[in-house]
Amino acid sequence: MRIRAFSARPDEDEFFDRFSREYGHDLVKDPRPLNIQTAADTRGFEGLSIVQDGYLTDDVMQVLIDNGVKYLALRTIGYDGINVKMANDHGVRLSHAGYSAYSVANYTVMMILMCLRKALYILMRSHTADYSLGKAEGREMQNMTVGVIGTGRIGKAVIKNLSGFGCKIIAYDICPSKDLDNVEYVSLDELYRRSDIITLHTFLSEDTFHMIDEKAIARMKDGVTIINCARGALIDTKALIKAIEDGKVGSAGIDCFEGEDDVIRTDHNYDRRVTNHDYIILKSFQNTIVSPHVAFYTDQAVSDMVECSLRSLSQFEKGEAVPLEIHA
Ligand code: NAD
Repeated sequence: MRIRAFSARPDEDEFFDRFSREYGHDLVKDPRPLNIQTAADTRGFEGLSIVQDGYLTDDVMQVLIDNGVKYLALRTIGYDGINVKMANDHGVRLSHAGYSAYSVANYTVMMILMCLRKALYILMRSHTADYSLGKAEGREMQNMTVGVIGTGRIGKAVIKNLSGFGCKIIAYDICPSKDLDNVEYVSLDELYRRSDIITLHTFLSEDTFHMIDEKAIARMKDGVTIINCARGALIDTKALIKAIEDGKVGSAGIDCFEGEDDVIRTDHNYDRRVTNHDYIILKSFQNTIVSPHVAFYTDQAVSDMVECSLRSLSQFEKGEAVPLEIHA
């Protein structure tokens, strides 16, 4: 199949080469994102390998349909914002990626520990040679109750990672898993009430949009730690900022941020300042760790993402079952 891979990065190179050879694809690597300008260059390509970055609007989708693109294989797990129904209605099939859950799960545990042990505060002070104890007193994991919202692939891996720490783990999911024996499923309300640490691992949907808002935060413990390595818009950022300012939220680890598309994957050097004010405010707190959506970013995950995308395109082409196909 003739494939154009948009947003192709140098670190994906060896995997594109290896897996396009393996699946027999004729692949063009294109470093540019798929957007309204670059969509014109999809004519003659049956399949596209793409990432979810907020640029695949309905206008862009229409160009792909008009150009005869048949398959869109994401190299990301998330596909929110992409009009899957519009694609399917025009016979375009989509798939997403399913890479190592431990990439995000390990990062989540790092975020939890950094928040509990005030790592940012300690490191910032050490840069000015302040080695006094200050307010660096942390908390220990075995004394914590961790509330996991969403116990799918990543939520489960987080739970497995956490099990060695001796903390109490409670969880909420609309489809509770039967194969987790060290976890107590509770209602969302109870999870908010009992958790010292709340970590989000659900998909973004109409139901979960801003699920962590002012009302939800009010139901949480004073000093709660909130971790978001899932999707930015699960949290109402303004409500989070207010709660950090008020001291209601004791610390936060934010890898995914609402409106991050204008911030991440760019070197904001001197002339390209970040203009997202909420992002700047969150980054100014010494008890808040903000990272640019990098929880997934490991060598294993990059290989998995490229392989998933090229394998799904091969399965589409051969008329085989496509386990990672997504439907409207
Ligand atoms: P998954 O589909 O395996 O799990 C999602 C879980 O959320 C499921 O168990 C589902 O039942 C549950 N869920 C759905 N709606 C819910 C609701 N309203 N309330 C509670 N639970 C609900 O997905 P996954 O692969 O584990 O990914 C989890 C999240 O992590 C996704 O949002 C994904 O986009 C995000 N993610 C982030 C990064 C990163 O780099 N930060 C990387 C990969 C994935």
